[in-house]
Amino acid sequence: MITFFCPRCWKEIKGDDKRCPYCGADITVHERKGFEEKLINALRHPERETVQRAVWILGRLKTHTAIKPLIKLFEQSDNPYLKREILDTLFEIGAPDAMAFIVKSLKSEISIVRKKANEIVKTRR
Ligand SMILES: [Zn+2]
Repeated sequence: MITFFCPRCWKEIKGDDKRCPYCGADITVHERKGFEEKLINALRHPERETVQRAVWILGRLKTHTAIKPLIKLFEQSDNPYLKREILDTLFEIGAPDAMAFIVKSLKSEISIVRKKANEIVKTRR
């Protein structure tokens, strides 16, 4: 099943909602299209919570165009927990280049990152 999110408040909504039940935003198809782009831009947001929420939603939406920006964020971040969440999201997206990056992370210098990559590779088999 596809998950939908309000493009304004980012709460989870139903696919046939015309209006967000939380914030009342008018949800048109056009807004939904732009939403993934907004989420990718949010990866550079100064607030950590916003970044984390964007990372999580991109995984739920399986946004392929987010793979490169996610890898870039992973490489620039010094937060191991965010790195771990990015690996989870890459796994949810599941494209070959996302999986290749997870395999590469098996050799990470950060132990929790290595551990997460290991878990993912095991689940996959
Ligand atoms: Zn909303």
